[in-house]
Amino acid sequence: MLLDFLKQKCECSHKHVSPAVDEAYCPDCGALVRNKWYIVRCSCCNIKRVSHLELDKIVPDSKFCHNCGSENYYIQELDNINFTDINYAILRKETVEQNINTTSQVWIENEGKFLTEKKLIECKE
Ligand SMILES: [Zn+2]
Ligand SMILES: [Zn+2]
Repeated sequence: MLLDFLKQKCECSHKHVSPAVDEAYCPDCGALVRNKWYIVRCSCCNIKRVSHLELDKIVPDSKFCHNCGSENYYIQELDNINFTDINYAILRKETVEQNINTTSQVWIENEGKFLTEKKLIECKE
């Protein structure tokens, strides 16, 4: 399941799936793609931090929190995107495994690292 997911990511970025919908079938590869929104918050003061995607991993733009100076952060998954979060939220287009209920999956920082490394290996082949 994980490998299938990674292969999909290598072959197709699902760029024709609109971010305006929760999920849709990708017209380029046929995969069911779910739009997921994430926000990075400071672990110390909980403020939202501006972030970006780096090889599929969500990282804050700055190393330290501008509000409290802490280096630690966590990634929160948003159920739906709203106006106040739009400047901070990161969109990831994730392939939905259709036979398995993945709604309770939680994406955490360590797994993101793992996924990124696996993806690089997969892409080279
Ligand atoms: Zn696609
Ligand atoms: Zn802080």
